[in-house]
Amino acid sequence: MDCLFCKIISGEVPAEVVREGERTLAFRDINPQAPVHVLVVPKDHHPNFAALSADPEVLAELAAEAGRVAEDEGVAESGYRVIFNTGAGAGQTVFHVHAHVLGGRGLNWPPG
Ligand code: C5P
Repeated sequence: MDCLFCKIISGEVPAEVVREGERTLAFRDINPQAPVHVLVVPKDHHPNFAALSADPEVLAELAAEAGRVAEDEGVAESGYRVIFNTGAGAGQTVFHVHAHVLGGRGLNWPPG
């Protein structure tokens, strides 16, 4: 399967990894939209958030790892956002589910 994030997980494509869990990997977004912008992905390929919900254990690990990233990056107190863009119409461009962890600046609501 030609999946960019599967290639990052296998080490075929480089990325700045910040955390590794049993079933998840967290790495810095190559085009950060905030001072802290980390992606948390399951090591197994799931195309989107709906598909990930079929695997509640990995979903729980992914949520816990997103929280740990926020703590490690120093934004847990100031506030951060965890986003799953789901579907092309919502801005998803890589169809291997990933949580964006964004923080380190003011975040507007509603998002664009
Ligand atoms: O939600 P969406 O699918 O658009 O997010 C994909 C993210 O993957 C983008 O924020 C993009 O900058 C990031 N990316 C990356 N490393 C790559 C290619 C894309 O961090 N090699």
